[in-house]
Amino acid sequence: MTISIETPLLYSQPLSALNRCHVWLKMESSQPSGSFKLRSAGHACQHYAEQGAKGFVSSSGGNAGIAVAYSGRKLNLPVTVVVPETTSARARQLIEQQGAKLIVHGKIWAEANELALAMASEEIVYIHPFDNPLLWDGISELVDEVVAQQVKPDAVLLSVGGGSLLSGVAQGLEKHGLAQTPIYAAETFGTGSLNAAIKADRLVRLEKLSGIATTLAASQVCENAFNVSKKHDVRSHLVTDEEAVAACKAFLNDHRTLVEPACGAALALLYGQKATFKPDDNLLVIVCGGASVTYEDLLK
Ligand SMILES: *Cc1c(COP(=O)(O)O)cnc(C)c1O
Repeated sequence: MTISIETPLLYSQPLSALNRCHVWLKMESSQPSGSFKLRSAGHACQHYAEQGAKGFVSSSGGNAGIAVAYSGRKLNLPVTVVVPETTSARARQLIEQQGAKLIVHGKIWAEANELALAMASEEIVYIHPFDNPLLWDGISELVDEVVAQQVKPDAVLLSVGGGSLLSGVAQGLEKHGLAQTPIYAAETFGTGSLNAAIKADRLVRLEKLSGIATTLAASQVCENAFNVSKKHDVRSHLVTDEEAVAACKAFLNDHRTLVEPACGAALALLYGQKATFKPDDNLLVIVCGGASVTYEDLLK
C-alpha cells in the first residue's frame, strides 16, 4: 500500500502555446489531501508505522498537517496537529475532517511547534513539514512516474517554501540520470528564503515573511535544499503576490483546477513568460496544489 496516489501528467495546450514549447503538468493537486505533501508525509508516516509508531504529531496548519492527518486515518493511527491561533478556520476544519485531534496553542507557529515536539515520543512520531530525508524519498517518486510515462524533462519548474519539494525532485532527477536538468525555483518576494540563501551563498534566516503565499513562508530553507542549489542548475525566481494570484486564476480557467498562490508562484513563471525555452523543450511543472484555497480567496 502507498498512501499517496499516482497523479495525472497532463499536456498543457494553452501553456505550451504561450511559451512556444511543450509544457507538462504533474498534477499533485489531485492527491487526495490536496497537495504533494501526501507523498512526503505519507511516505514518512508509513515508514514509521512499519517501525512500530503508535501515532503522529504535527505542528503544521497547512498542507503538511492535513497530509499527516490523512495518513494517520489511512494507517488507523491517531494524529494530533498543534496549530497557532493564526491558523485559519478553513485549515482547522480540513484537519479535523481527516479525523485528527486539533490543538490550538500559542500566538505563533514556534509556540505550537514547541508543544508538538514535547508531545512526541518513541511511539508518537513528530513529522516535520519539510526537513527529513524520508520526506524527500516520497517526493522523488513523482519523477519516477513522469519517467515511466516517457517524458524526459528539459527543465522542471516548482515552488519553494522550506525546500522539501526541491530536495525530492532533485533526488528523483538524480535517480534517473537527469541531474543536469535545470530546475526553476519560484518563490514570492515576501517568502524568498532560497533566493536569499543563493545570493548570500549560505543559509539565511529571513527576519520577516510577508504576502499571500503563506504556504511558502519558511524563514529558512532546509540545508539540503541549499546544497541542491549548489550542486544542481537551480534558477531562482521571485514573483509578486499579484502574479501568483493571476496565475492561479488563469490556471483555473485553463485547466479547471484551483490551486493555492504558493503553487501559483511556479505557474507564474510560465504565465508571465519569465524565461525562454527552445521549441522542442519539454517543461515539467509541478502543480503542487494546496488544500485550503477557496475560489472566494482569489476574489479578495
Ligand atoms: C509545502 C508546499 C509548498 C512548499 O514546499 P516546500 O517543500 O516546503 O518547499 C508549495 N506549495 C504547496 C501547495 C505546499 O503544500
